[in-house]
Amino acid sequence: MKILIVDDNKAAAEMMSDVFSAKGLDSSFITDPKEAVSAVKKLKPDVVLLDIMMPGIDGITVCKNIKADAEASGARVIMLTAKDFVEDKEKAKAVGAEGFINKTLLPDEVLKIIYSIVAPPKAAPAYIKFWGTRGSIATTEPETAKYGGDTACVEANFGDRMIIFDAGTGLRRLGDRIIGDKTRVKSIDMFLSHYHWDHIQGLPFFIPAYSQKHNISIYGCSETDLSIEEILETQMSFPYFPIPFKFVSPNIKLRSLAEETIELGDIKIKTTYLNHPGNALGFRIEYNGKAVVYMPDNEINFSVPEYGNRIVDFCKDADILIHDAQYTPEEYKLKKSWGHSTQEDALKLAIKANVKKFFMFHHDPSRTDAHMEEILAKCRKILSASGSSVVCEAARQGEKIEI
Ligand SMILES: [Zn+2]
Ligand SMILES: [Zn+2]
Repeated sequence: MKILIVDDNKAAAEMMSDVFSAKGLDSSFITDPKEAVSAVKKLKPDVVLLDIMMPGIDGITVCKNIKADAEASGARVIMLTAKDFVEDKEKAKAVGAEGFINKTLLPDEVLKIIYSIVAPPKAAPAYIKFWGTRGSIATTEPETAKYGGDTACVEANFGDRMIIFDAGTGLRRLGDRIIGDKTRVKSIDMFLSHYHWDHIQGLPFFIPAYSQKHNISIYGCSETDLSIEEILETQMSFPYFPIPFKFVSPNIKLRSLAEETIELGDIKIKTTYLNHPGNALGFRIEYNGKAVVYMPDNEINFSVPEYGNRIVDFCKDADILIHDAQYTPEEYKLKKSWGHSTQEDALKLAIKANVKKFFMFHHDPSRTDAHMEEILAKCRKILSASGSSVVCEAARQGEKIEI
């Protein structure tokens, strides 16, 4: 919502405008009432907060001029007044003012009244998109094309904020999209669950990191004895990569993460350690009453109750759970303690945690689309036999899910 404040008291106008801006509203002010009509035409605000008593020209006349101008008249005009005379209110109403607000109210109370006159802006739609779903190594075989060959990368858009989980090979195409995006994504927050190849290989090919047009922050799981900077520097060092990390590092803010909660505006991100070789983190993102859990590499172990219960609690009632489901039970027999789960154990977690939608993720490189569909059918059979309301899907590269 765009708000224009017209008040000759600069300090009061500035303070109110700052409070509105901090709440994500597009707010500005002018102190010369004679400029009001041209400012409304130029800025096209949804709401004009107009002081009733100003030198040179009174607010009621300004309101009359705004409402008489074909280009400006669409803006809702709300009078700001410290007076409480019925006569003033009648006059302002007669020239088209939509409301009155007592000047002595606090900005929060003012906003409440504005919202009772003009509907508050709806939260921008939130969605996730899978840019890479494969585990371990990228695949190019046509038999894996449907569920996708790129490794772990998930875009999450909450409101106007772009969050990226993991920088597998799928990140390359997401970077190209960002570069070509006309809406110009300015702020990118990237969370790295850990540093196995399939979670960072896209980073050197992420073009936005090479420009100074984007504010990029990378939050990486803390590793014993190595800083996130050292890890990413090594990845782009001789003889592994021709362009050193120092070419992109000035454009990136780095921060290491342990088990904690961080807040990005209205978005809350909680982390938890996963059962995987070395340190690895899972993420729970909460926004506007919704929750998405991303746990790409995790060997579920219900035989240790504290561990199993901790993970169930972390995923509890999530709208979306994206979880490692790399192995079939037969494959798992040979790959126990490699840090990955079977589809059935991941499904068990989804049921225990009562999530709404469960996406199998980190598909084994050997998994063909046809086999994936067999597994999916088997999981859905288990679900219907259990009477669970969980919806089970296999994450598909390119798929976008509204939250
Ligand atoms: Zn992995
Ligand atoms: Zn891993």
